[in-house]
Amino acid sequence: MPSYTFRCPACGDFTLFFKSMSGSKEQIDCPACQQESMRVYAPPLVSTSSKGLMNRIERGMEPRRMTREQLGPNQTDKKPRIANRPWQVGN
Ligand SMILES: [Zn+2]
Repeated sequence: MPSYTFRCPACGDFTLFFKSMSGSKEQIDCPACQQESMRVYAPPLVSTSSKGLMNRIERGMEPRRMTREQLGPNQTDKKPRIANRPWQVGN
């Protein structure tokens, strides 16, 4: 389903979904205040999200690995419940 983002001068950006792409959707009335809202050609989220995903992966992998190595001997895996058991904590 194609979605279009429009910018209402009063409400700001809003996105509408259309069942078909028939007709031009360059302009539409704001569903909230019925003001003319021009279509916004926002850059697709792909570039931002992919870049953010890469950063997330890079950041997520390295600290996690270091943390696991640092806390590995002291922390028994990733089961916090075990810490509740005194006989395991002393280990
Ligand atoms: Zn509006």
